Amino acid sequence: MSSRIRKYPGTEMDLKEIEAGKFLFSSYETVLRYSFTSGVAISRFLEGLKEGQLWARECDKCGRILIPPRMYCEEDFRSTDRWVRVRDTGKVNTYSISYVNNDASRRRTPVVVSVIEIDGASKGMGILHLLGEVDPRKVTVGMKVEAVWKPKKERRGAITDIVYFRPRR
Ligand SMILES: [Zn+2]
Repeated sequence: MSSRIRKYPGTEMDLKEIEAGKFLFSSYETVLRYSFTSGVAISRFLEGLKEGQLWARECDKCGRILIPPRMYCEEDFRSTDRWVRVRDTGKVNTYSISYVNNDASRRRTPVVVSVIEIDGASKGMGILHLLGEVDPRKVTVGMKVEAVWKPKKERRGAITDIVYFRPRR
């Protein structure tokens, strides 16, 4: 890489110049702060979590009860009709045993991530959450589970207001 190739405006550097550090550089840490609106349906859902309640939306045309709630039924192309409180119990629809953290580091003890079909909502409707108080080898599809809530004063209107779902007692 000794010859200079002039493809772009400016002065290209050769390897010697780069190795000699004949360039200016700056380094900084980016701070990215942003927020977004959760929308009408999810806002109401999150408010419910603070109270230890799960809220869904019902569509009169197809009769489905949607959770997470949506203000619009994608099957009928119309607004959903009302809020319906559903239970904080359900069953395991699907799950995954993970030995990897969300920063890609390894875990010794696995976490079990699951889609929970919520009782009172339509079949196939569910929320993604963790399973706890269970041997990962004993988790099965269809296993009945219940939410374990944080103490009320620690809840802040986030899905993590539920610590995890555990097998129903
Ligand atoms: Zn519908």
